[in-house]
Amino acid sequence: MKRYYAISVAMFFIFQSFLHSAQADGRPFRGSVKWSVLLCHFSDGGAIPHDVNYYRDMFLNQGTGGLSDYWDDISYGGVNLNGSEVRGWFNMNITLAQGQALDRWGRVDACVNAAKNAPADAYQVPTGNRVAVITFPSIDMFGWNGGAFLPHDIDVGGMAHEVGHGISLNHSFSDDPNYRNADWAAIGEYDDPWDVMSWGNAFRVPTANFGDGPVGLNGKVERSHGTDQREFYQLLTYTDDVDLHAKLAEWEAFYNYYRPHGGLGVKTPYERLIEKMR
Ligand SMILES: [Zn+2]
Repeated sequence: MKRYYAISVAMFFIFQSFLHSAQADGRPFRGSVKWSVLLCHFSDGGAIPHDVNYYRDMFLNQGTGGLSDYWDDISYGGVNLNGSEVRGWFNMNITLAQGQALDRWGRVDACVNAAKNAPADAYQVPTGNRVAVITFPSIDMFGWNGGAFLPHDIDVGGMAHEVGHGISLNHSFSDDPNYRNADWAAIGEYDDPWDVMSWGNAFRVPTANFGDGPVGLNGKVERSHGTDQREFYQLLTYTDDVDLHAKLAEWEAFYNYYRPHGGLGVKTPYERLIEKMR
């Protein structure tokens, strides 16, 4: 039985979120998830290709084939982005080179502060909102539990991935010990092509206006992330991959054969499998 599982790389995002964000509501999400989307440009970037309405359609408005429609589809109407706002463009009053010299949180802060201190139409991110920063020119792309930092020319698929991090979703993995997406990636990371949280290696669907669109969310896998995080990774100390593989095998055996599951009527997955085969 192959079971995709979640990850300790997620620890990075969780750790950073404690440092940088106060709005780390847990899963599951229901109803409106409010985002403040800030468009920020460097002082020497030249002409900006898209206006604020382009990003309102891409992120916020429904019926546009953008991000809002995506979350509506994959959550069966359970999650929406109502109450979110897209504001900009704000001038950060720093050059592209100065922006590149900042660390990631410095880049986020430069945009948030540019919005707050704008000479006209200033905007303060409301408490509790998640923050998406979009810059022109593009300098970075990442997400953390509480926000996302995006290039101006991002595909809606990449946007969904980083916004997924923004609502606390972690990368998906397979248990293939031979798969490595990049030098900096962990073994198995990004190896679920049907899940947007493997965007670096996921199937893509072209959209009319917003580049490649995302595949779905592998919901049952995402549900297991919470259990894996609370009952395994959080308790784990390990020194190398060999040790990790042994401990993962132990955890998977426990998960499948010994651990009662609320969703299975307090039975183990193995007991439920036997029942179904009778
Ligand atoms: Zn990611």
